[in-house]
Amino acid sequence: MKEYKNFIDGKLLPSKSGRTFENRNPANWDEVIGVFPKSTAEDVAQAIESAKRAYKKWRQIPWPKRSEIMRRVAEIMIQKKEELARLMTREMGKVIKETRGDVQEGIDTALYASIQGRKYFGYTVPSELPNKSCLTRREPLGVWGLITPWNFPIAIPTWKIFPCLLSGNTAVIKPATYTPASVGELAQILQEAGVPDGVLNVVYGGGGEVGEAILNHPDIVGVSFTGSSEIGRRIGEVCGKRLKRCSLELGGKNGLVVLKDADLELALEGVLWGAFGTTGQRCTATSRLILEESIYDEFISRLKERAEKLKLGNGLDEDVDVGPLVSEAQRQTVHSYVEIGKKEGARLLTGGEVYKEGECARGWFYRPTIFVDVTPDMRIAQEEIFGPVLSVLRAKDFEEAIEILNGTTYGLSSSIYTRDLNKAHKAIELAETGIVYINAPTIGAECHLPFGGMKNTGNGHREGGWTAYEIFTEVKTVYIDYSGALQKAQIDTWEG
Ligand code: NAP
Repeated sequence: MKEYKNFIDGKLLPSKSGRTFENRNPANWDEVIGVFPKSTAEDVAQAIESAKRAYKKWRQIPWPKRSEIMRRVAEIMIQKKEELARLMTREMGKVIKETRGDVQEGIDTALYASIQGRKYFGYTVPSELPNKSCLTRREPLGVWGLITPWNFPIAIPTWKIFPCLLSGNTAVIKPATYTPASVGELAQILQEAGVPDGVLNVVYGGGGEVGEAILNHPDIVGVSFTGSSEIGRRIGEVCGKRLKRCSLELGGKNGLVVLKDADLELALEGVLWGAFGTTGQRCTATSRLILEESIYDEFISRLKERAEKLKLGNGLDEDVDVGPLVSEAQRQTVHSYVEIGKKEGARLLTGGEVYKEGECARGWFYRPTIFVDVTPDMRIAQEEIFGPVLSVLRAKDFEEAIEILNGTTYGLSSSIYTRDLNKAHKAIELAETGIVYINAPTIGAECHLPFGGMKNTGNGHREGGWTAYEIFTEVKTVYIDYSGALQKAQIDTWEG
């Protein structure tokens, strides 16, 4: 068990409150991973002050020089990949193959940042007046608040930290209470790579105290948040009142459509991976399966057989397919949705119960669960469950499948399996989601492409790729007049 401290101005400091909290392994609740400071608004203020001081110098370091630090971050992460992945499996529960992938996404994001620093172009635009040039630059904003969830303990923090810092901002991050250790290790890597003191600060503690203190602090210029739509609304409200920039990446209720002409074996593999990977705890998890009527019975019988073969257990075991849920509370939420589904009249095809065989008795395991004969109005077809629960719906044809697909308040990711090129393209056009997959499940984003959703999944920003840099920079428009005379735009006319 390791004792972690806040990371402020390059130093490891306890909370001024003197209080701490524990982080435990969801596969074995007896194992304590670390002890962390339970911080207060006072600790947050100290971190923001340090980030403010550091900003003055950091913003003036040329982009390509900042990007060299990002390359060193990637190199250290490559060396530490296995160590970080194992820690993440212990603190969050997802299987080791996936936590290696989570760290890899962070490495890729750092490498992308290392290139982006040499090519973050502005525009050069002709002027309507002679002897005058016009251009745009991108500038940092100041001190950012970064608030992250627990399901991607390294990847999501890196999506925020790297573009934020590369753009010349400084930051205070509050990681999720369930997964603070991964961010603690990441901060040490950034320091080792040469990120100056105060540029990144980590403050641990609960959302209600530390998160709110970040949001409400007048020196925070923007908040980048990933988490539930419920908390996202709160963040948006405070940022709106205080006129802070605000990027929200929120929940999903992602649908996967299988049409009768699809490669059914391929679709089956995709559904299993999309629905039960990360124990269903991905914002992009496949939580609704929409089957064209003529393949419905065959598909669900094959799906049941395959789902029941998935191996549950401690994610450090390389043979395990499905790890635990992150907490007892999350397991209770999942189980309460199973009860709701039954009451609503959906048919439980498999699962629907806590799993406690052998060593799993000490963790928060739940059997992969499939409801069939779900109708679009049911709560299990509408609300984000965030667990290994798949709702299967029936569609009479392509048009109805798309209607069901779009019939939720969320709009993150969608998928369609078909061999019909026309229908695939029509689905791309009609899907009301920020991400669309063809012949692949709803999960599997790559870090160099925009990531985010429509409707209640966010407020229109896109993390990932070049668009993440739009969040963390401000456009500055520059006019340079070299005529030596006063030229009045829209008033003077150029006569040759
Ligand atoms: P959450 O409960 O909304 O928490 C997210 C973060 O916000 C945590 O760090 C939390 O702190 C903090 N927080 C809670 N209340 C706050 C407040 N009043 N002010 C400021 N911060 C506050 O979400 P979660 O359970 O960690 O994550 C699961 C959710 O994230 C799901 O809805 C999932 O779909 C979504 N998600 C979305 C994306 C995406 O890119 N669209 C990606 C991943 C996850 P504590 O940990 O201390 O509560």
